[in-house]
Amino acid sequence: MKMHINGKWIDKDEKIEVKNPFNGEVIDTVPAGTPEDVKKAIDAAVEGYEINRNLPVHKRVDILLKAAELMRGRHEELSRTIATEGSKTIKEARGEVTRAINTITLSGEEAKRILGETIPFDSMPGAENRVGYYYRFPIGVIAAITPFNDPLNLVAHKLGPIIAGGNSVVLKPATVTPLSALKLGEILLDAGLPPKILNIVTGYGDVIGDAFVTDERVRMVTFTGGPEAGKEIIKKAGLKKIAMELGSNCPVIVMDDCDLEKAVESCVSGAFWAVGQNCIGVQRLYVQKNIYDTFEKKFVERTEKMKVGFQLDEDTDMGPMITEAEAKRVEEWIKEAVNAGGKLLTGGERKGSVVQPTVMKDVPKNCRLGHEEVFGPVVILYKIDNLDEAIKEANDVVYGLHAGIFTNDIKTAFKAIKEIDVGGIMINDSSDYRIDGMPFGGVKNSGLGREGIKFSLQEMTEPKVVCFNL
Ligand code: NAP
Repeated sequence: MKMHINGKWIDKDEKIEVKNPFNGEVIDTVPAGTPEDVKKAIDAAVEGYEINRNLPVHKRVDILLKAAELMRGRHEELSRTIATEGSKTIKEARGEVTRAINTITLSGEEAKRILGETIPFDSMPGAENRVGYYYRFPIGVIAAITPFNDPLNLVAHKLGPIIAGGNSVVLKPATVTPLSALKLGEILLDAGLPPKILNIVTGYGDVIGDAFVTDERVRMVTFTGGPEAGKEIIKKAGLKKIAMELGSNCPVIVMDDCDLEKAVESCVSGAFWAVGQNCIGVQRLYVQKNIYDTFEKKFVERTEKMKVGFQLDEDTDMGPMITEAEAKRVEEWIKEAVNAGGKLLTGGERKGSVVQPTVMKDVPKNCRLGHEEVFGPVVILYKIDNLDEAIKEANDVVYGLHAGIFTNDIKTAFKAIKEIDVGGIMINDSSDYRIDGMPFGGVKNSGLGREGIKFSLQEMTEPKVVCFNL
């Protein structure tokens, strides 16, 4: 496929191969963009901003709702693209497309609700004869940088609210999964989006990343990805708005008063969905001692039932990791934990890019698996005495995106809600639960700001005060 700059689909002699992560088969190529291409894309986006800020809201709504309709018509094609360039199974990919349609629909709906308020100027002595209000206006050119693991829906979470809010965009999708993003771009243009509003440059982050982030005409950088790149971007961005959706190693607490079967089912899914390449995936499971042995047995049995393999086969439950290099990294982390005394309860083996679903216990905290984000199919079980201990352990990391707790005791739930430092806590679900309209984001090293269309729109617009001196 080609990249989209200044209303044209552009090719380059230098190409990047897009490969199926299961077998390395080249499925397409995209141009290797350069910093000069990014500059041209920003030039166009400056004009695109003038176009979008002057579009009436009903036009933006029509474009977004039309795009959602076109996505429905291409549902299976988009699903196969996600499951071929990425490592999601075809079943998981279909779920992502359904969510992305919802994300674009919500963006169309929320475009109508970018509201202001009247300001009670007469609350200040001396200002009695003033009246006014504030409304929200778009901020300009936004650079959006996205990761590989939800190659369509996370792009929709950038483009939907950027367009709804009256801004323009320069998008850099992940190098390994650019096709889903380019197809969404194609769909938005087919839906009638004026072309200069949407610019997509494909290319390597370490080659073209700085050109997106440092240009002073870019008024906001919205980034979803790992903390390392996130911190690098913050250092370089200068005076512009920043939104950061970063990683985590989410904790889930399982108390002895819960529905054990439900907890096992939900946590196995939460640990291995998208091969654990999921920012809200379950990495640390704190299980109360009375039920620990039963939970461990059932959890391992359920994990071993998962069918691992080619992601496009209808009956595959878990596909390959995104690259063999990533699979090797996870294998190395597992070995490090085993050498430090960690016990493998199941899994641990790697073949090519496929890592078996892995369950461990007794993993020391100072191992990478014990405190960093694994972003792979590995979950660690811990036995805990009581809720206080579980909360203390859940918080004892540098991340804070999502957590989960299984309990039927309302006081236990409320204590966890109050004391676990995260952006979202799920009661009787694993950490892996999200709908696209809720505020989504983390505390500590998990990020800055919130996504979820209404909340992204707050970040992507600014209040302007209007005051009449009568
Ligand atoms: P990544 O390596 O940080 O890459 C994310 C994006 O940033 C890619 O497009 C990448 O380009 C680009 N990039 C890398 N270095 C850059 C730089 N110096 N300047 C500008 N752009 C740069 O992350 P990933 O491996 O794709 O995704 C996994 C991470 O994303 C995990 O940590 C996960 O938790 C996080 N994530 C967070 C959320 C959330 O909503 N909180 C959601 C999903 C994923 P290249 O592809 O060319 O390297």
